[in-house]
Amino acid sequence: MGDKKVTAVVLAAGKGNRMNSSVAKQFLMLGGKPVVYYSLKAFEDSSVDEIILVTGRDQRDYCRDNIVKPYHISKVTQIIEGGKERYDSVYQALISICQTDYVLIHDGARPFITKEQIEKIIDEVMKYKACILGTPVKETIKVVDSNGFITATPARSKLWAAQTPQAFAYEAIKKAYTIFHQEQDSTEAAVTDDAMVYETYLGNTVKIIAGNYSNIKITTPEDLMAAEVLLNTITF
Ligand code: C5P
Repeated sequence: MGDKKVTAVVLAAGKGNRMNSSVAKQFLMLGGKPVVYYSLKAFEDSSVDEIILVTGRDQRDYCRDNIVKPYHISKVTQIIEGGKERYDSVYQALISICQTDYVLIHDGARPFITKEQIEKIIDEVMKYKACILGTPVKETIKVVDSNGFITATPARSKLWAAQTPQAFAYEAIKKAYTIFHQEQDSTEAAVTDDAMVYETYLGNTVKIIAGNYSNIKITTPEDLMAAEVLLNTITF
């Protein structure tokens, strides 16, 4: 991509508790290959310059020997150990990058990201400095209190579901995560995506770009069944 360096961070350090499986969701088999293979392959085939794969301490060898090497994912420069929460894994990745201009942070549990969408988000991050893929929500979303009662119904026309990749100018997102990391207390922070860290700690705006509804995150057993169907209908 011109003279600007672009790094993809692929997150695969989650435990996948909602999957009720001893194997983390990003390593479950989909069409005979581990779920995380598909997004690694999409980034390999795109114009990104390097890929940082983040996984559990005990899964680094598995990733190298069973995914990166046999499938020739040659852009992987580091396989690093993630942290307790998703945001810890992202922080570890950001501080392990030596030098880059833009970073695309992607959930390894989203196998249906396409090369076209990756190129689109790279174009847009160069314009906006921060952008993410998302889709308008189809359901009506309710805000619910701890007793299970609805407290608000936000206007659906204003609601989008955030996906990944989420792309940022590298120095800016590193700064946002560094402030967040320093300020974070021991109570669990309700941070579930990267744009949120960027918005909160830098006060900057993030552009949302229409993604595909097929870019699902495999979280529950139903998602894996849907993914098998999608795999047979989507052409990569
Ligand atoms: O748990 P969640 O659905 O938010 O996970 C999204 C992605 O972040 C998954 O690909 C998962 O492997 C990754 N993750 C991680 N480190 C964690 C938790 C989640 O890399 N500690």
